[in-house]
Amino acid sequence: MNALAATSRNFKQAAKLLGLDSKLEKSLLIPFREIKVECTIPKDDGTLASYVGFRVQHDNARGPMKGGIRYHHEVDPDEVNALAQLMTWKTAVANIPYGGAKGGIGCSPGELSISELERLTRVFTQKIHDLIGIHTDVPAPDMGTNSQTMAWILDEYSKFHGYSPAVVTGKPVDLGGSLGRDAATGRGVLFATEALLAEHGKGIAGQRFVIQGFGNVGSWAAQLISEAGGKVIAISDVTGAVKNSNGLDIAKLMKHSSENRGIKGFNGGDAIDPRSLLTEECDVLIPAALGGILSKKGVLILPDILANSGGVTVSYFEWVQGFMWDEEKVNNELKTYMTRGFRDVKEMCKSHNCDLRMGAFTLGVNRVARATVLRGWEA
Ligand code: GLU
Repeated sequence: MNALAATSRNFKQAAKLLGLDSKLEKSLLIPFREIKVECTIPKDDGTLASYVGFRVQHDNARGPMKGGIRYHHEVDPDEVNALAQLMTWKTAVANIPYGGAKGGIGCSPGELSISELERLTRVFTQKIHDLIGIHTDVPAPDMGTNSQTMAWILDEYSKFHGYSPAVVTGKPVDLGGSLGRDAATGRGVLFATEALLAEHGKGIAGQRFVIQGFGNVGSWAAQLISEAGGKVIAISDVTGAVKNSNGLDIAKLMKHSSENRGIKGFNGGDAIDPRSLLTEECDVLIPAALGGILSKKGVLILPDILANSGGVTVSYFEWVQGFMWDEEKVNNELKTYMTRGFRDVKEMCKSHNCDLRMGAFTLGVNRVARATVLRGWEA
């Protein structure tokens, strides 16, 4: 099943549990707007290269649409659609006043030079500048993009609309970005995990973690979890997977990964088949996948739209900060949001007699449905 079908199936199940009117259900499912643009740039060698850029704006009932822009060779319309829809439920679970959107360009960012990436980002911004905006749709980093990408979007957008720093979040701190934004998604994973374990009378310390992914989210999560005393016993990335039952040395793994562009070849553990990672024996797997199988084995499962919501939550802090909060304040506020999100999900689980994943979906869908009904449909 592709990502869009899986997401829509979860949505429909939540809509059923909530007893949503079928017409409302349909209107929540259909995206607000789907944008697809050609982005042609001259490469450094003078030849032309064409890419396809997408922005899917899913829903704006609760506020401006919000979500990252992804540069990856596998970006396709269905995937962006699914991710945009997930952002709608995610911002609602986090209870921040945003809707959901997602964008992407089908490209291999590792094979483009910095100046090619800059040209591509500027061309994409030129194509979508009149469809995004502070009150309509606010992009942020995602896979393959970072604070520099956001600085280029800000600059290009501002040529058309005047200086508009709040048109993107995840900016460099020197351009009004928030302290702690880089680590925020990984830190959010830590806080959500803490809340989940606390329910079972446990803490991070001494638990065994398996982490799928060692990019911005996975590497921060691994680092923060091991700092909190958790044992990260296996990690995978696109280059391979490594296991050490006594706990991996995350600082050394980070160093190896940045020097070798991946974790492959790390000598602080045994190389394992990345496909076997999800079935490694552990206490907590991040992110949640193959829920049905793992729950039978007694592994705790964090729903992704809750666990991943730390990044967009700190994006919201960045967006509303009148002056710059110090990092401790950002992290404390993030903890409050993540803990509250977990508590609200648990309440939905109780009232709808469902698991955490469906608890997160029903919470998100319910909040968006209520906002939609309150705003009404009169033309
Ligand atoms: N890309 C992140 C996410 O998918 C952050 C989005 C944002 O900050 O708007 O949640």
